[in-house]
This record gives sequence, structure tokens and C-alpha cells, in this order.
Amino acid sequence: MILIAIKTMKKHLLNYSLLLISFLLLSCASTTSVEKQANKSCVSANVKITTDFATGRMDECTLIGENEYLITLIPENIPPINSSPWYAFKIQAKQATDIRIIMKVQGDVHRYPPKISTDAKKWALQKYRLKGERLTMDIKATTTPVIIAGQEIINNQYYVDWANKLSQGTDFTYQELGKSTQGRSIDKIESRNKNAKEWIVILGRQHPPEITGALALFPFVETLLADSPLAKKFREKYNILVLPNINPDGVHAGNWRSNANGIDLNRDWNDFSQVETRQINHYLEQLVAQGQKIKFAVDFHSTRSDVFYTMPVDYGVEQPYLVKHWLGDLDKQMPDFTVKQKPGNNPDAGVSKQYFSDKFGVHAITYEMGDNTDRYQIKRIAYNAANTLMATLLSDVNHNKP
Ligand SMILES: [Zn+2]
Repeated sequence: MILIAIKTMKKHLLNYSLLLISFLLLSCASTTSVEKQANKSCVSANVKITTDFATGRMDECTLIGENEYLITLIPENIPPINSSPWYAFKIQAKQATDIRIIMKVQGDVHRYPPKISTDAKKWALQKYRLKGERLTMDIKATTTPVIIAGQEIINNQYYVDWANKLSQGTDFTYQELGKSTQGRSIDKIESRNKNAKEWIVILGRQHPPEITGALALFPFVETLLADSPLAKKFREKYNILVLPNINPDGVHAGNWRSNANGIDLNRDWNDFSQVETRQINHYLEQLVAQGQKIKFAVDFHSTRSDVFYTMPVDYGVEQPYLVKHWLGDLDKQMPDFTVKQKPGNNPDAGVSKQYFSDKFGVHAITYEMGDNTDRYQIKRIAYNAANTLMATLLSDVNHNKP
């Protein structure tokens, strides 16, 4: 397991295409006195390692040698349902100093190769060595703070800025659907045509560290809401409901998986024990009560590789071959990308895909992007997937047949 993780991380390190950031090389100065602040930060006279920003997370930080720090990552639930150790911390020094960070995961293995940024916008891969459970990085701490994180940081504010920009000067509405457990906004973007009754529902960020899912959702939604002739035609026939960030508490806290109550929201679509899933279910029920119809749903996630979890053609949803036709067309359109479709169903798991199919009798998919998939490729796939979906839903092809 660990070996596979190492190989995967190394392999993707080579493939990874991000801008490189150059750092100032300054003379070294060191200090040894460190105060531990509730173990969540390391602050010495010279070097500060902190998590005092949205999504910031390291569970323990200890000085273990001269300019050598041990950071331990601990899941919010033990044992974690899914190995997804998130971390994001900031390093700054009064005088430039070379530091070594050793990062361990409690009871688990590393999943995300470290990234580094000075502005939390442009990221580069940080060099590291992985030996057993210890991930080691050598970093130049300077007066300019750097952030080290498991993936690019997409915090709650990012969604607000994105949604504002997307809806500005358009007919799309951008509003709060409800509040999270800790009172953060769960927002919705809607394209609603008074002549349209059928709804496409887009969900994102049930699982906070699954950044490549978010990186796919943005261009996917932008394509559905674009000014293109196809998208305009599509929006005459279909309404679109986008819930890009349904776990804002988990995102803020840098949780590995769950919401503020330690519940995996994508296992809660049967029980609705959480306010996040409950409000969305209620909103969809209201739409149906108003004579609207839920037609299709896409839920964005990340995993080891690119895969589309679908409902089986014999499951009994309407237009059984709709998704097979869509993803088959996507596969043909992208010769350099193999569309992996994995049909399956698990009625008791409480997964959103199953909920949409069981409750509304329609298709839904879990759209998974690989953790280390090239970021430009994620955009290309999303753009093509959205356009092909619109074409499929508008076409006269009979989706009741193979
Ligand atoms: Zn997920």
C-alpha cells in the first residue's frame, strides 16, 4: 500500500505541470528555542509555522532538532473512512533559514504530494522524499511567507468570488440555499427558464481535500453557463442548479472527509442526519412539488485516477442508456483520454448518486478526477464533458436503446 503510494506520487511528480516559483537564496541563521502553541503551530524567535488561515491544517507541530520540525497529521475521525490526509501550513522567518520538515500521518499514509505557493494562487510541486511513513522536505524559510499544502487551496471565499463573477451581468441567480452546521453559507447558482421544467443538478466539495473535483466543477459549470449557441439552446430547455461547495465547514477546517459533526456527507443521503444534506433534499423536494422535474445530477470528487461512477443500464432509471451515450461520445471526442465508466449501485451507502436515482428515477454520476491529473487536462475533460452532455440531452437519439 505504502509502496504503491510512493510509486504513484513519484510518477505523478514527473507528470505534474505547474509554474515553478523561484525563491530568494539568503544567508542562513538559526534558532533553537521553540514554544509549542497548543501543538497546532511552531513558533520560535525566528521561524513560525502556522495554520491561522482558512483551510489551514496541521494537527501537531514539534521542534525535534535544530531547524527540524515534525508535523503530524491526524484525521478528524478515527479510523478515517478514506485515506485523505489534508495539510496546509504557512512558514515564515525573520531571517532566512533552511529548515527541514518531516511530516507523518497518524495511522495512515500520505496521499497528496506537497505543493508550495507564496500567494495561494500559483502553486509548484515542493520537492520531498518519502521513506516509509516519513515525508521530508527541505525549505528555505524567509521573510516572505510560503504556504505548503496537500493540493492547491480552494477556500470558501474562492467560491464566493467565482460565483459572483459568473453571475454578474447575467440572468443567473446567486443566492444562499441554507446554512451549514456552523452557520456558513451553502450557496446555489441557478439558471432558470420559465418554460423549462427539467433540472440538471451539480454538486461539489462534499469531501474537502478533493480539489481536483473542484478544479473540474468550475470549467464544467462555466461551459453550461457559457454564451455559446449550444449552452444557450440548452438553457432554454433545461434549468441548472449548481451547489459548488456543500461542506463549507469541512473546507474551512481542512477536514479530510467530513463536515463539522464528523459525518461524511456523501454517506448521509439516506439518513439526512446533517443539515447540509437535509436542506438540499428539502429544496429539491420543493422544486418537484412545484411541478419541476429533477433530470440528472453530477457530483464532483477526486480519487487516485479519473473515473466516472454511473448507474447501471438495467437499474431502472429513465433513459437507461443516456449516460452511456454521453460518456461514449466523450471518449470518442478525446482520443488521448480514456473515459472509464464504472457502473454500480449501493442502495444503503447514502451516496448522492444513488439518492438521485432512487428518489427521482433518473441518472446521476460521481465525476472523479485523479489527485494528480494534469490541471490543464482536467479543464479540457470538463469542457468537453459539459458540451457533450448538453448535446446528448438535446439530441434526438433514443436513450432507451444501446
Ligand atoms: Zn469524494
